[in-house]
Amino acid sequence: MSARILIVDDVPLNLKLLSAKLAMEYYVVETAHNGAEAIEKSLNFRPDIILLDVMMPDMDGFEVCHKLKENPETAFIPIIMVTSLTDTENKIRGLEAGAEDFLTKPINDIALMARIRSSLRTKTIVDEWRSREQTTIALSNLDSASSGGELNITHSNILVVDDGQLNINFIKHALYVLRPTIIEISSIKEIQDITEKSMIDLVLSNLNLKHEDGLTVCPTLRSMPLTRHVPVLLIAREPDTEKVVKGLDLGANDYLIEPLDEQELFARVKSQLRHKKYYEILRSGVEQNIMFSFVDPLTSAFNRRYLDAHLPRALQMSKTQKKPLSMLMLDIDFFKKINDTYGHGTGDEVIRSVSGYIANSTRPSDFLVRMGGEEFVVVMPETRLDDAFKVADRIRRNIEKDKVTHEGNAVEVTVSIGVAEASESSSVESLFEAADKALYMAKEGGRNRVVKCEIRS
Ligand code: GH3
Ligand code: MG
Ligand code: MG
Repeated sequence: MSARILIVDDVPLNLKLLSAKLAMEYYVVETAHNGAEAIEKSLNFRPDIILLDVMMPDMDGFEVCHKLKENPETAFIPIIMVTSLTDTENKIRGLEAGAEDFLTKPINDIALMARIRSSLRTKTIVDEWRSREQTTIALSNLDSASSGGELNITHSNILVVDDGQLNINFIKHALYVLRPTIIEISSIKEIQDITEKSMIDLVLSNLNLKHEDGLTVCPTLRSMPLTRHVPVLLIAREPDTEKVVKGLDLGANDYLIEPLDEQELFARVKSQLRHKKYYEILRSGVEQNIMFSFVDPLTSAFNRRYLDAHLPRALQMSKTQKKPLSMLMLDIDFFKKINDTYGHGTGDEVIRSVSGYIANSTRPSDFLVRMGGEEFVVVMPETRLDDAFKVADRIRRNIEKDKVTHEGNAVEVTVSIGVAEASESSSVESLFEAADKALYMAKEGGRNRVVKCEIRS
């Protein structure tokens, strides 16, 4: 996987060495010598990942990191902080500033490359969903679901995989403020069972299990749809570098080295949970936007765009399966007068109420579409003309019988309905034409009636 990497360091020699290493792995590399240049190049070079030195004159790495994470244009670029500061306090500061990871100099090349690959993988997924979000926003005129707002990561379900060697109380204590539910299992084999019962937000897994290869936790989680994207934090020992690298390549998101540090554990868990939350919001936002772009907000019926996309398919299916398909076209009578007499608000209520009557009289396999204004279409698969006519007349009678009440107004409403059944040679257009013609005849015939029109061809 090729990618663009920006290296930020005030020491030219460091830049040179790291550039050479990364270029050898076929990454496209750009360099910056100070914080200001780093910010400018993050915007212009559009890196997929930033390797950021901490100790720099003028603006240090923490400040650069803060600034990049604050700007929506650069907030999504993963940052790996690189430093000779080894104390935990600085590590935590980096993670708190929003950095994805914190590596100490001299850099272990293998670990660095594994970390880069792992961050890129996450970024690719997030980029894909961000792009889908943009598409659906463009379609539906909605706001970005993922912009702004604090991410709430408390009360998460955290799965700990360990055979008794880790200090579980230590973990509980470290994560206390997040109020998580901690679920403990002693073997990787139990994962499938447990993930079917509860939604897991994060997995903390001991890499050194006595009777199992701790690395198999990654493929196990990644192979199941429910846990495909769940963040995995491995807990390793100092000499485990090679195993950790393998773990990152197998899909782990991060790792901790024993003896665990309470603050570091907290910071890494928090960072992974925030990523997961962000990704979830992005995803559900996209799903919601898709829904909104096909559903009419006033009535919750489908909109015209959905009909245009779906009717050709439904018609084709009825032909291949040699099953009938009918269409109702319904228009409220003298609706202009209702609007004029009672106002637009009552008019809207009448539209909503008529939509409810239709929905109550049709089957789940029928689909109801608001065409705009006070006109509806119902597509009825597996329904013959005479049956569609009966349904239409029931809808008409029910609407005539009741009054629509709104803000003290009791409005008498009637509807006219045209019914048509598709023939072997019908097209979408000819089916519409037939239903429309029948509706026209119902209006001409005096309204508050149903007319059917058989297509003969
Ligand atoms: P007809 O019996 O021939 O159908 O008469 P009509 O008055 O219903 O005829 P027409 O279709 O010309 O009138 C529809 C009116 O519906 C025109 C428009 O002002 C109004 N309208 C369109 N969309 C909406 C809406 O979303 N809400 C409300 N309240 N009125 C709408
Ligand atoms: Mg009308
Ligand atoms: Mg009309």
